[in-house]
Amino acid sequence: MGKYTENDLRAVLKEISLLEENQALLGWDSLTGMPEDAAPFRAELLSYLAGKSFALQTGTEYADMLTYFEAHPAELSALGQQLVIHERKKYDLNAKIPTADFIEYQKITSLAQDAWTKARAAKDFSIFAPYLAQIITYKKQFISLWDQGSTTPYDVLLDQYEPGLTVAKLDQVFGEVKAGLSELQAQLAHGEAPDNQILSRFVAKQAQSDFSMELAQKLGYSLKKGRLDDTIHPFMEAMNRNDARITTRWDEHDFQMAVLGILHEAGHGLFEQNISPEFDYTPFEKDMAMSIHESQSLFNEVIIGRSEEFWCNEYPLLQAYTGNTFADIDFDTFYRAWMVTKPTLIRTEADPLTYPLHIIIRYEIEKAIFNDDINVADLPALWNAKYAEYLGIEPTNDLVGILQDIHWAGGDFGYFPSYALGHLYAAQFFDAMSKELDLPAIFASKDYTPIYTWRKEHIWQYGASKTPQEILLLASGETLNPKYWLALQTKIYSKVYRLA
Ligand code: ZN
Repeated sequence: MGKYTENDLRAVLKEISLLEENQALLGWDSLTGMPEDAAPFRAELLSYLAGKSFALQTGTEYADMLTYFEAHPAELSALGQQLVIHERKKYDLNAKIPTADFIEYQKITSLAQDAWTKARAAKDFSIFAPYLAQIITYKKQFISLWDQGSTTPYDVLLDQYEPGLTVAKLDQVFGEVKAGLSELQAQLAHGEAPDNQILSRFVAKQAQSDFSMELAQKLGYSLKKGRLDDTIHPFMEAMNRNDARITTRWDEHDFQMAVLGILHEAGHGLFEQNISPEFDYTPFEKDMAMSIHESQSLFNEVIIGRSEEFWCNEYPLLQAYTGNTFADIDFDTFYRAWMVTKPTLIRTEADPLTYPLHIIIRYEIEKAIFNDDINVADLPALWNAKYAEYLGIEPTNDLVGILQDIHWAGGDFGYFPSYALGHLYAAQFFDAMSKELDLPAIFASKDYTPIYTWRKEHIWQYGASKTPQEILLLASGETLNPKYWLALQTKIYSKVYRLA
């Protein structure tokens, strides 16, 4: 009889999962229904639970257990062995950093977020710059501790969010996207831009909600395992596969926002609701890479939610829910309005065509920081120059420029590429799906069950037990290839902008 059994490992993982379910539920409640004055008590409770799960995951007993199983893999099932490898990677991320440095780093990121808020109010990057410089110094030091033979320092950060992804691969992928996109944008400039005035017509919140939730459920989102609430910033929070909740915000003169927002969050929810039960109470039910999660929300929002074949059949439903609001608008006028694309300075307001350019700019700047040691003081000028070059618009101040995202203030470098990868993965999945399913017939039938089943079988069931690249390879027969995204966008927008 060995020192530990697989049951011991699973018991610790279950305890961590239970603690995290509590945190998730309390976090959801804080943003939806919690009374205002409860905040300090809630913060105390959340920090207590976070401390408990952190202690379990970083404790010497857990380390001892992992080391034991690494020496005796035969005592574990295949899943058990996979869990040990997964947990070791997470353990080392924390354990390799000296505690004193970790505490100091936490303090600096907290001060940096404060400085970021002040810098935004003053529209002045220089207020934030000294804190950002300190974060970067720490991050570079951590990279040297984490590094296990990467080609460049920035590769180490990329790997933490997207296992196996390298600068070499991303340079090639983003290079293709950039080239293809500038070509398409140049063509669209000569096209016929649609008018999207009709999208600001009044649509009551209840009608928006009823319509959007009907669409979300047609795509498979289950209200027996989910619910919808109002928040300022929309999100999805999952406790487990039987409880994945979504939120949204409303504007009665911009119904597109809630329709696409609900489809997006329901896409995240669909993933959570359909993870295989064999991963219950393991990190494989919750450690999905952000890129693959985002590929599923974007599949709903961008692939389905901007598909002409889909809207051709669902536009009558929108008309039915909105009385006479769109009685004078034919389908073609509606669809072209729905698809208007225009460069913007703000990433979160970007349409799906220009969105990847915002990410490529951040990727190139992060690479310059970690691989070329660019000075922090030079970042705003670099930022502005790239916006002028790639999007044809230049920020007039730092608030609409380099100060718009909170990520760097929290030390999150290497995270941005995942947002663009989500778009590329979604298009590649759609292409693979279209080779196996008769999509035109499915859209025409308005029964989207085959699409739901395909996604469940090829993507959702795996949870975090496979990397995004493994899932992509299994589903589409190849690793990431940006040509599917470019081809799809070119086809869609050439038609909408009536290019000859
Ligand atoms: Zn999302």
